[in-house]
Amino acid sequence: MSEITGKTRLLGVIGHPIGHSLSPLMHNAALTELGENYVYVAFPIKPEDLATAIAGLESIGVVGFSVTIPHKQTIMPFFSQITPTAKLVGAVNTVWWTEQGWQGTNTDVEGFVAPLTGLDQDWRKVKPVVLGNGGAARAVVVGLAQLGCPEIQIVGRNLEKLAAFKNSWSRADFNSELSVYPWQTLAELIPSTTLLINTTPLGMTPHLDQSPVEEDLMQGLSSSAIAYDLIYTPRPTRFLQQAADQGATIIDGLEMLVQQGAAALRLWLQKPVPVDTMRQALRDFIP
Ligand code: NAP
Repeated sequence: MSEITGKTRLLGVIGHPIGHSLSPLMHNAALTELGENYVYVAFPIKPEDLATAIAGLESIGVVGFSVTIPHKQTIMPFFSQITPTAKLVGAVNTVWWTEQGWQGTNTDVEGFVAPLTGLDQDWRKVKPVVLGNGGAARAVVVGLAQLGCPEIQIVGRNLEKLAAFKNSWSRADFNSELSVYPWQTLAELIPSTTLLINTTPLGMTPHLDQSPVEEDLMQGLSSSAIAYDLIYTPRPTRFLQQAADQGATIIDGLEMLVQQGAAALRLWLQKPVPVDTMRQALRDFIP
């Protein structure tokens, strides 16, 4: 990190809890490489302190900040402007200060899509299956729609939440059809898809030995399929191990984490950022 001086500018991440965040590691590695006089720190902000914190961040001249659980949705009313992507997702993960006030966007979509865009695929023929319908699944849906997937199949365990998830997109301006399915339909969905995405927390601490897909069901996955797990530690998860055993291509959540961060840093600094350095900082930390 550059030496902290009277001119050092502040970036950071707000969340609660926040001590586990890998963002300071990744961003400070990039800032050091660039020789930028900035520092990126984690701010533990309780839900009830959000309004005070946002006013405080403005008054101390913070340039921009990342937003994580539990503030990604509740922070939205605080902004003068929100990008169409963040509106579509219904969550903000990146904020920057402008003369008109705070502006918010969602770089999780860009992060999610990044490792897919390099693959030789005609996305107009791919009908992905998305496991889970929580916050991250929303960024995934927007990303898959941007790629041009004609139908996005969402699988969830709670039928009411699934119906609400589908309804929330009823006025969304994209061409993909959204269909929702209960968990019991996985046996039919898995063999027919070439992109299977896990957005549930099954496979990360404290569910390290779990997978959202039972062993025998995963045997139906095509060897030409891609399995994408948003979880970035452990690498690989049980879900990705199962998919690799079928010969499928696997993608873990590390690249999404790196690319959403890189997109945020580009916004704050208004210049290209060293993505390789950010990735390496995380790889050194996550074996
Ligand atoms: P979330 O909002 O809590 O959503 C989790 C989803 O998983 C919900 O739909 C939940 O269903 C479902 N689920 C939980 N346990 C389940 C189980 N036993 N069986 C079936 N479904 C289950 O969490 P999130 O913010 O979307 O995050 C999800 C995962 O994505 C986390 O592992 C997170 O670390 C990862 N993530 C990674 C990145 C990255 O940059 N790589 C970014 C964002 C998130 P119910 O609604 O029924 O509870």
